[in-house]
Amino acid sequence: MSADLQGLSLAEAARRLAEHGPNVLPSEPPTPMWRRLLRQFRSPLVIILLVALALDTGLWAWHGAVGAPVESLAIAAILALNALLGVWQEYRADAALDELAEMVAPRSSVTRGGERIQVAAADLVPGDLVHLEAGDRVPADGCIRGGRGMRLDEALLTGESVPLDRAPGDELLCGTLVVRGSGIVELTRTGALSAMGRLADLLGRVSAQVTPLERRLDAFGRRIAIWMLALAAGVIGLGLWADGVENLPRTLLLGVALAVAAIPEGLPAAVSLTLAWGTRRMAARHAVVRRLAAVEALGSVTVIATDKTGTLTENRMRVETVDAEDRGRALRAMVLASDAEPGVDAGDPLEVALLAAAEEAGVGAAAAREAAPRVSERPFDSEWRYMRATVDEGGASVSYVKGAPEAVLARCAMAEDERARWLTATDGYAAEGYRTIALAWGEGEREDGLEWLGLVTLWDPPRAEVPEAVRRALAAGIRVVVITGDHPETARAVAGRVGLRCERLAMGAELDDLDDEELERCVAETDVFARVTPEHKLRIVAALQAAGGIVAVTGDGVNDAPALRRADVGVAMGLRGSEVARESADIVLLDDDFATIVAAVEEGRGIYENIQKFIRFLFSSNLAEVLVVALGTALAVRMDLRDAAGDLLLPLTAVQILWMNLVTDSLPALALALDRNPGVMAERPRDPASPLLDGPSTRFILLAGGFNGALGLALLVLLPRLGVSPAMAQATMFGFLVLGQLVLPFPARHLAARPPNNPWLLAAIGASALATVAGFTIPVLRDALGLVLPDWTGLAIIAGSVALALAFAETVALLLRRAAR
Ligand code: ADP
Ligand code: MG
Repeated sequence: MSADLQGLSLAEAARRLAEHGPNVLPSEPPTPMWRRLLRQFRSPLVIILLVALALDTGLWAWHGAVGAPVESLAIAAILALNALLGVWQEYRADAALDELAEMVAPRSSVTRGGERIQVAAADLVPGDLVHLEAGDRVPADGCIRGGRGMRLDEALLTGESVPLDRAPGDELLCGTLVVRGSGIVELTRTGALSAMGRLADLLGRVSAQVTPLERRLDAFGRRIAIWMLALAAGVIGLGLWADGVENLPRTLLLGVALAVAAIPEGLPAAVSLTLAWGTRRMAARHAVVRRLAAVEALGSVTVIATDKTGTLTENRMRVETVDAEDRGRALRAMVLASDAEPGVDAGDPLEVALLAAAEEAGVGAAAAREAAPRVSERPFDSEWRYMRATVDEGGASVSYVKGAPEAVLARCAMAEDERARWLTATDGYAAEGYRTIALAWGEGEREDGLEWLGLVTLWDPPRAEVPEAVRRALAAGIRVVVITGDHPETARAVAGRVGLRCERLAMGAELDDLDDEELERCVAETDVFARVTPEHKLRIVAALQAAGGIVAVTGDGVNDAPALRRADVGVAMGLRGSEVARESADIVLLDDDFATIVAAVEEGRGIYENIQKFIRFLFSSNLAEVLVVALGTALAVRMDLRDAAGDLLLPLTAVQILWMNLVTDSLPALALALDRNPGVMAERPRDPASPLLDGPSTRFILLAGGFNGALGLALLVLLPRLGVSPAMAQATMFGFLVLGQLVLPFPARHLAARPPNNPWLLAAIGASALATVAGFTIPVLRDALGLVLPDWTGLAIIAGSVALALAFAETVALLLRRAAR
């Protein structure tokens, strides 16, 4: 049908692309930098800080503007740094998502210069000849030039939900879906000129909507904020009472600082960056995330329902035997009842294999089809599992049928014992893992009373990496069930070969008789489902979920979309999957490999683990700061500690707290997002209802954070008693507090199985420690931070305290890890 269609020459296609522009809708311009920057100042906390800044500056001016407004400048600088870091994180996260979108951007099969090639849908031009088959979306407006049994779902554009038949000459609109048949379309309008509005959605944009995880974090952050504002109000009251109204601005600033100390400002940005980086790592392992929320679900997956052909096996089929008496006609059936194009290595691998075998036996597909042109057909569908092509053989019409043996045998006129004999033969082949296809023929256009031709067996080798992946999934507490349209014995044999047990097998037809409750019981104990239709698949997924499972399910066909949407994690095949399956999925596998699903689960668990790690780190640091500020102020008031100028001695200044939270803590938290977690696959799936701050994490935060806070307070109180000046004591305590929390990422990541070394983390902690050294030694910074340079004794005390803090937190982590076992 395509022989006379040469398509555009490559040069002409390039010229038209330049003339008409790419086949995309004009996209929104990227957010300008200043907008992004301004957005960073929207958080209520930053606004409070800005108010504090104004207050501080105003006061300095009111006092006659003597000297440099050191504190104001410091706050301003820290705010600016924080905003820049926020912009950078946002930018990185966006870029990572764009990269993912690029990877799953649709491609089209076109004929150009007489050759069939794959091009990005964005590069299509008017005049291009595009090949479409079931499951494809029409990539631009066009007109059907040739095709067979094309049926289109135009619901997206017209709202008409009943698919309509379309014949050569009919117009097709961009965005409509081919649900059956195949054909060639000559494009007329591309890009913004095509049926508008849909294209934007078709470009596989990764939706960056707020994930459940981020929503939970938000709510969590708000709760802490309220508590902390209350605490801050208390501290301000205390300061006012002890220090008088004349020191109000300083006291206010302290209250603000306390709030800043407690609230993990960097958390939301760090989480979105972790998700973005994590998904990029998944993409490098060939799993492209289309919906970020799926990452969280991945870590909780308890059941993977996988198909067999192409996922557990290579989908590279080879014909082993052709078991037929009339071999010549059988070979003809193999090429005539087939939609694979000779000479093109695209299409259903099963049909490609049949064509190749016929060619080897001397039956050329092109010649055979030219001699016997097709007059009518019934396309293949998993529903009926066979296809028919009726051809014109020298003036007489003849039908050829190929399909699943049971389906074809049921349509043949033969003695019962012979039918039984062939069914037994089929079972025998299938038990060895072969895929079997039956062939039949009949005179005229018919699908019943056919004459049996014989069986073809095909070998589709299991993928080499799958047994190991299956082992890892099982070790990770994940059930693996196989759902296939193939013969039960073939399914059983392949399952066995990849290390899956198959104690109980169910046939799709059996499921029809079960009510929901019975089905739930059935899916709980069934390992392999054979001869299932996409509707069965949907029911199986729903039943698995009803039993409390978190289900990942694979799909490739047009009809798999409902099951993919229903699943907690819908996994579409990037190579052999239809476009509509990819659209409905949460994750697209670039290599169709079962092992990639397991890799995605591992990454999903790892991402969650990393988020928990920096929550532990940030919150234990914050707790220590809050304890020092709140209790330290109370102590100072009680013991009436005053500095040389007679002002109340504050445990930490606002600038110091900001420095810790916004400067030195940020980098290590981000570096934790780059941790690898090979140990996660030794654990059970995470209960999706489990809180972000689970028991061990909470205990770690309370113990490690509490210890650091107590040690800091002890330094603050004890050092002056040993004759150390209050300023020196304060500087020593600050030095300890900063460095004492910079070592916390190590124990925070040792709560679960020990992760391998993370050079980024070492570098980040090194950089933050250097920044702290700079804070002490560079005079400008030292003044801004209100520090004095500690002497050797002070340094020794800092070093000793940090070592003590690290040892304590590591012990806590060790004990918590032991307790968890
Ligand atoms: P699966 O790919 O998991 O085997 P399908 O629903 O795609 O499931 O196929 C069901 C059965 O239909 C196959 O086992 C095979 O016997 C038959 N079949 C598959 N593809 C074709 C085809 N192109 N033409 C005829 N029969 C087919
Ligand atoms: Mg199939």
